[in-house]
Amino acid sequence: MVYRQTKQREEVLQIVQGVNKHMTAEEVFQEISKNNPNMGIATVYRNLNRLVEMNIIARIVDKEICYYDGNSVPHYHLHCAQCGKFQDAPVQYNKQLDTDLEKQLGIEILGHNVTFECICEECTKKTKKN
Ligand SMILES: [Zn+2]
Ligand SMILES: [Zn+2]
Repeated sequence: MVYRQTKQREEVLQIVQGVNKHMTAEEVFQEISKNNPNMGIATVYRNLNRLVEMNIIARIVDKEICYYDGNSVPHYHLHCAQCGKFQDAPVQYNKQLDTDLEKQLGIEILGHNVTFECICEECTKKTKKN
């Protein structure tokens, strides 16, 4: 039983860390169903939550929709205002901000989130065509 749980978690992790990171639970479920039609959505949710708890993946919440991020190392995001897609932003995480604020307030800063609103490459191409 323990083995089965670990195996399911690995399958979920592989999807989230695959080509299309930043997926909703439904998207992960749809991908899993292609190879493993026996895994229910409840199992997918449970494993996603467990992976977030274990700090292996991260969760981004946008307009009450949860996206699961295959990369749990702090980083910034690009969010497309048109199609809603999340991508990693190719800029360095500014740890200095955390340190500065920690000094200023004397409390522990766990990290910060930055999301750049954008029109993604694909959407830009689509707009140009029309
Ligand atoms: Zn887009
Ligand atoms: Zn990300």
